[in-house]
Amino acid sequence: MITAYLTIDDVPSKITPSIVDYLSQKQIEPIMFCWGKRVQNNKKNAIYALQHKMLLQNHSFTHPRFSDLSLDQSIEEIEKTETVLESLYKEAGVTRPFKLFRFPFGDKGGQNEDALQDYLKNHGFTQLDHSGILPSEYEKIDIPKNQADCFDVKWTFDYAEYQVRPNAGFSVEDSISRANVRFGTPYGDHPKNGAAPAKVKAEQIILIHDHEETEAMHKNYFEDLINALLLRGMRFVKPIRRLD
Ligand SMILES: [Zn+2]
Repeated sequence: MITAYLTIDDVPSKITPSIVDYLSQKQIEPIMFCWGKRVQNNKKNAIYALQHKMLLQNHSFTHPRFSDLSLDQSIEEIEKTETVLESLYKEAGVTRPFKLFRFPFGDKGGQNEDALQDYLKNHGFTQLDHSGILPSEYEKIDIPKNQADCFDVKWTFDYAEYQVRPNAGFSVEDSISRANVRFGTPYGDHPKNGAAPAKVKAEQIILIHDHEETEAMHKNYFEDLINALLLRGMRFVKPIRRLD
């Protein structure tokens, strides 16, 4: 068994409820990183996710590349989304257990990187409990320092299924092949659901996206991709925060 947190970026969309229903059936509790703007446009779907045990968190307001922004613009992107998320949790009648942030494109802000880490740290953002994750497992794009010391949430495996687009020459099957190359031969059992036993630590952070554009290319892409990992023996751990 490989254990992982499931993280879903660019939530919400029109297909969010079907993703939520599938995950509920599998007893998987993911972290959904939301655009503030998309929450405003699809509020009903965001509330539906919150009311079904999905953990909604901050992925900026308009999904810019932070290295193109000033420090003030960067902070505004984060804070506008915090305002939207706070009122969303309130309206859904759900308590937000802790605050997480993920940079769009994994772009940590270029010359503002250190200032943004300080901002996140000083404004109550935390990190997932990564004590089961080897530092070498993180995908090595623009990571100058140990991810374990950071206050944003990175990933260790990206399905890269956002490449499934017209004439792109990349399919959902190619995305599954990426997983197979990364995680090796199947060793799966046949459990009833996709949740890891309580108190088991996550070893991986899996990244997948909530994209209508991918659904238009491959119906039920989300289920097909997650099922591929479940069948190989991956189990998903309930998100818990780092103990600072
Ligand atoms: Zn994103």
